[in-house]
Amino acid sequence: MVETIPETIPETNANCLFCKIIAGQIPADIVYESDSAIAFRDINPQAPTHVLIIPRKHIATINDIEVHDSALVGSLYSAVRDIAVTEGFADDGYRVVMNCNAAAGQTVFHIHLHLLGGRSLGWPPG
Ligand code: 5GP
Ligand code: ZN
Repeated sequence: MVETIPETIPETNANCLFCKIIAGQIPADIVYESDSAIAFRDINPQAPTHVLIIPRKHIATINDIEVHDSALVGSLYSAVRDIAVTEGFADDGYRVVMNCNAAAGQTVFHIHLHLLGGRSLGWPPG
């Protein structure tokens, strides 16, 4: 039997928690949706507003972002801008973080921006 090679890398990962949320297989409190991204409230919030913004495409870590993903990654920040307005802290300020791999504490290997707002945030972070 001849093995066929996919022309493109699969855009979803069947074992990925966030791909399951995108597919509607796991419930989430979704606050934003676009063609390229979705956002939902973190299950363990670290601020009055703690939203995760993720691309619909499965990308495991920042290290796996490719040149042709630039617009996709940029669209995550467009989502942040809009959600910050909706949540009411765009002018006061907020923080956006993306953890990468073990030293930063990444636990879900589908890239996501953490949007934290609604309180003062110390610096440097832990
Ligand atoms: P990381 O540690 O990878 O930067 O962030 C993963 C985030 O996903 C954590 O803040 C964690 O609370 C959140 N999280 C883990 N599982 C779920 C879930 O099933 N639903 C939601 N909404 N958030 C989750
Ligand atoms: Zn995924």
